[in-house]
Amino acid sequence: MKVRDRYAPSPTGLQHIGGIRTALFNYLFARSQNGKFVLRLEDTDRTRSEDCYVQNLYDTFEWLGVKWDEGPDNGGAFGPYVQSERSALYQKYARELLENGHAYYCFCSAERIEKVRQEREAAHSSETGYDRVCRNIDPKEAAKRADSGEACTVRLKIPLGETTHFHDHLLGGIEWKNDDVNPDPVLLKTDGFPTYHLANVVDDHLMEISHVLRAQEWLSSTPLHVIMYRCFGWTPPEYCHLPMVMGQDGKKLSKRHGATSIDEFRKQGYLPDALLNYIALLGASYEEGKEIYTLDELAQRFSLEKLNKAPAVFDYKKLEWYNGQYIRMKSGEELSALCLPYAVGAGLFGEKGKEPSPQQRAVFTAALPLVKERLVFLGEVPEKIAYLFSEPELPPADEFIPKKSDLASTIELLRHGLEIIKPLAQVPNDEDAENFIKAEAEKRGVKLGDLMMPLRVAITGSRVSPPLFGSLRILGAELSLARVQRALEKITFRL
Ligand code: GLU
Repeated sequence: MKVRDRYAPSPTGLQHIGGIRTALFNYLFARSQNGKFVLRLEDTDRTRSEDCYVQNLYDTFEWLGVKWDEGPDNGGAFGPYVQSERSALYQKYARELLENGHAYYCFCSAERIEKVRQEREAAHSSETGYDRVCRNIDPKEAAKRADSGEACTVRLKIPLGETTHFHDHLLGGIEWKNDDVNPDPVLLKTDGFPTYHLANVVDDHLMEISHVLRAQEWLSSTPLHVIMYRCFGWTPPEYCHLPMVMGQDGKKLSKRHGATSIDEFRKQGYLPDALLNYIALLGASYEEGKEIYTLDELAQRFSLEKLNKAPAVFDYKKLEWYNGQYIRMKSGEELSALCLPYAVGAGLFGEKGKEPSPQQRAVFTAALPLVKERLVFLGEVPEKIAYLFSEPELPPADEFIPKKSDLASTIELLRHGLEIIKPLAQVPNDEDAENFIKAEAEKRGVKLGDLMMPLRVAITGSRVSPPLFGSLRILGAELSLARVQRALEKITFRL
């Protein structure tokens, strides 16, 4: 079978983890089967669809590096791929259902439908949805009223008393009594626009979609869709409703749990490869013990059999771990290019938005290896290395004092530091620097750790910092000396 699948988002919000997971699984499935992956914009909800969300979709996927084979931007043989440009088609197919008796005109006003709802609620009725009154209007009479311009919708005439069956790749055989399906849902609205159900079914059929991989929240719409395929005389696609994505508390992943829009992750400094790698594991297992996968490796391994039935739990910590791993895989040059926008944006080189001078750029490139090993987000870089670009604010004197020491001894330690800082900054590598300072500590009868602590605070402004020797090399002998002098003055006079 020729595999064709699709991502069919409604542009009514920012792209988020759940949507990307759906898109990614469709992409991987299509690639694993030598099939085609289609993007279709389901913008039938005219009040909620916005251009900015379409733009966000394009930007997000470009950033992620996931490409569709056919879509609104790159075209294809089944276009247009935007539902608002396909209205005439949906009207034609609604008419077909009216003609073969599978749909009918409904003249009920929104007010009447609301009144029925309220009455049922007041009577604690178990019945919900439309009460099907217009189903009994003689079709000829109804057609006349519709032709004369009376406001109407078109509803599906669900065949009652029957059961609908379909197979889901993950969930197995599913049966649904037609009487329990949403009663005669609207297919075409008063303004002639289709509802999601009509447009979705017509398009999946016309676009020859072979597999529908979508979030489990759509499962309850599927019996209705299968009924519609039967009414049209079409074969439904194969279905696979993907496991839900939950937060750690077992509730559906939402903003309450943390960032969910891809934009937020991007701004924080996540790498696209790390996000994709992690998202690809939400509800699927590939190879025992292997955690890092490229997109190609995922495509080679993906199959519907590897999906898990159980809901996936989104673990922010695990995603951070992935990001760290991917950061460490970057070359110095790549990392520098990736981090530079964050540094410029944070004002590391002067005011916010200022590009680095050649000398600042050199410092920036030299500084990245100092932080690379422990970096979790690209966005952390400016703050971590700011002390290499401007004098750090020095903390109160107590912060300089090593454990079990006191202020007077710390002043002594810094005096030693003053004497050794210049030659130390000139030692070309960490190993020799360590040997040098060890020897100095021994000679001066102080503990190595005690000698290092006030020096570290003097140079970086903090007890916890990137490696000291590398920092000294970047700052150079003179600047390093000046910082130790400044710190010594500060703690001596408790400035
Ligand atoms: N437009 C629907 C959405 O926003 C598509 C659901 C489906 O894949 O059928 O998710």
